[in-house]
Amino acid sequence: MATAYYNNDVNEAILQNKTIAVVGYGSQGHAHAQNLRDSGSNVIIGLRPGKSWNKAEEDGFNVYTVQEATKHADVIMILLPDELQPVVYENEIKPELTSGKALAFAHGFNIHFSQIQPPSDIDVFMAAPKGPGHIVRRTYEDGSGVPGLFAVYQDASGTAREVALAYSKQNGAGRAGIIETSFQEETETDLFGEQAVLCGGTSALVKAGFETLVEAGYQPEVAYFECLHELKLIVDLMYEGGLEGMRHSISDTAQWGDFQAGPRVITEDTKDSMRDILEDIQSGRFAKSWIIENQANRPEFNATNARESEHQIEQVGRELREMMPFAKNKGGVERAKN
Ligand code: NDP
Ligand code: MG
Ligand code: MG
Repeated sequence: MATAYYNNDVNEAILQNKTIAVVGYGSQGHAHAQNLRDSGSNVIIGLRPGKSWNKAEEDGFNVYTVQEATKHADVIMILLPDELQPVVYENEIKPELTSGKALAFAHGFNIHFSQIQPPSDIDVFMAAPKGPGHIVRRTYEDGSGVPGLFAVYQDASGTAREVALAYSKQNGAGRAGIIETSFQEETETDLFGEQAVLCGGTSALVKAGFETLVEAGYQPEVAYFECLHELKLIVDLMYEGGLEGMRHSISDTAQWGDFQAGPRVITEDTKDSMRDILEDIQSGRFAKSWIIENQANRPEFNATNARESEHQIEQVGRELREMMPFAKNKGGVERAKN
C-alpha cells in the first residue's frame, strides 16, 4: 500500500523563514492562502487588478502584481487557471525566478505537458488537494481536511520534498492523508477521474436517467429528484463507508436492483470507452485539443456550455432549488470542477 503521511509525520519548521506567494485567489488560491496563513506561514498574494485582488485585500493579505510577488517570495504557488499559466509564467514569473526559489503547482498539467519549462536551479513541486477549493477551506476551518497528493519534479535545493510535505500539511491535508505521486500520475489520473467518472461520466449518467424517465412520460420534477438530487445523498454514504456502506443503508430491493442493473448500464463497451479516454490523456491528444481550443477562444467549449444550460434538467432544477435554499451556497453552486 502507498504510504500516507499525517500531521505527526511532517515537520513544518522548514517553512518558518520563508515567504509564500500564492498566485491567484480563486477556488484554490483563497483556500491555500488562508489555510497556510492560519497555520503560521507568511503568505502574500500575486494577482492582476480586479475582483480577486479586492477580495484578497479585504481578507487582509498584502497583494502584489504576479511579478512583484514572485520577487518577494521563496515559494511561488501558481493557482491560476491552467490554460493561463504558461503566458503569465513567461511574462511575470520567469524573470524573477532566481536560483533557490521553489515553484509549486496544484495540478501537473503544464509541467507534464511541457507548457512550462522551469530553469534547472529552482525546486519544482506539487501540493494538490484532492477536492474543490471551497471544501479545502471549509474542512480546514472545521478541523477536518481534504486528502492531498504531493510530488517533486525538480529538487535543486535538496529540500523540495520536505517543503512540499510541509506545505500540504499547512493546507490541512495532513489530517486526511498526504500521498506521494509524480507529476505524470497526478496529471493523468486527475484528468481521467474528472472526465470518466466525477464530471463527465456522472453528468452523462444523470442526464441519461432523467431523459429516460421524462421520455417515458413521468413528471420532470420527479425525474429530477430521482436522478440528480438524490445522488448527493447516495454519494455521501459512499464517502463515509465505501460502496458497502452505501449498500448497508439502502433497502435490499435497491441493493438487488443495484447488482442486477449496474452492469447493464456500465458495460464492457463503457470500459472500452474509458480505456480510449485514458489513452487520449496519456498520448497528449486531450491536452493538445484543450490547448488549441483555448488558442481559438473556446468556440466549442462556449457553444456546448450554452446548449447544456438549456437542457430541461437545468430548467426544472433551477425552479426546484428555489424552494430548497438549504441546498444552495454551500459549495455546490461554487465551481465544483477539478
Ligand atoms: P480559478 O479560476 O478559481 O482562479 C483563478 C485565479 O487566477 C483568480 O483569482 C483570477 O483572478 C486569477 N487570474 C486569472 N488570470 C490572471 C492573470 N493573468 N494574472 C493574475 N491573476 C490571474 O482557478 P482554480 O482555483 O480552479 O485553479 C487553480 C489551479 O488549481 C489549477 O492548476 C487547477 O487545475 C488546480 N486545482 C483546482 C481545483 C479546484 O477546486 N478548482 C482542485 C485541484 C486543483 P481574477 O479575479 O482577476 O480573474
Ligand atoms: Mg481533480
Ligand atoms: Mg482537474
